[in-house]
Amino acid sequence: MKRTVVLGLVLSVGALVAVAAQQPPANAPKVIDVDKVKDNLWVLKNGGGNTAVFLTATGVTVVDAKNPGWGKPILDKIKTLTDKPVTMLINTHTHGDHVSGNVEFPATVDVVVQENTKANMEKMDIFKQNNNRGMAKRTFKDKMTIGSGADQIDLYYFGPGHTNGDAWVVFPALRIVHSGDIFANKGLPLIDGNNGGSVLHIHETLTKAHNGIKNVDTIINGHTPANTTWADLKEFAEFNQDFLTWAQGQLKAGKTPEQAAAEWKVPEKYKGYATTVSTLMGGLPGRMQRLADEMKK
Ligand SMILES: [Zn+2]
Repeated sequence: MKRTVVLGLVLSVGALVAVAAQQPPANAPKVIDVDKVKDNLWVLKNGGGNTAVFLTATGVTVVDAKNPGWGKPILDKIKTLTDKPVTMLINTHTHGDHVSGNVEFPATVDVVVQENTKANMEKMDIFKQNNNRGMAKRTFKDKMTIGSGADQIDLYYFGPGHTNGDAWVVFPALRIVHSGDIFANKGLPLIDGNNGGSVLHIHETLTKAHNGIKNVDTIINGHTPANTTWADLKEFAEFNQDFLTWAQGQLKAGKTPEQAAAEWKVPEKYKGYATTVSTLMGGLPGRMQRLADEMKK
């Protein structure tokens, strides 16, 4: 018992350190690194989720706007890439490291999100504190196409996963998709139960995306520094399905979320997957608890 308490304390301190490491002081310089993916597509890194910058004939479309205070650095960096104005902002989902910079974008910018994400964003303090600046203006339910030809963007929603509003942002002419955090990196995904995320259904949603989106080669992931391939998405869906099968077995065997979490390992066949699990949102025990809650419904 005593050992468990001490171990719990060590884990808690570790969690605090991990969170602190992700959130440098507000006055730290906000340095954005740019990856040129195509002549008209860049990924802006640091400060939260990966931001995509897509240049069209009429203006710039931005996907995701990072943590609070990073909207202006994003706009400043875009000025070094093109003279065209930013006309549209798409958010992949509601989290603060993807939408907070929205409030620094010009009020004229069109903001597009999945309809559940708009409902989630309406609960966030940052929009209330900024007179709703940066709030979604247009929504879609399952699919929306914006523009045509080289400028076309297809938005899809295939069901709950990381949240209940995860948009897949496809640039068909480039054969590239921004997946947001439903595929943030190769590792166990965070599941936000408070915003409708689902441990039970994420593997189905990933499989639907893999089957439903055609002619894509490359994925800009929500957070990983390196891009993944379309085949990696299929493997990631299987990884999540294997996790679900394992987790359901643990719960059926009567283990508590904590007991089960202590025994989880990345299966041998998944090469290059993170062996540590993020402690955010309750860590692995939090995911097990979310699954237990979903299975009771
Ligand atoms: Zn997220």
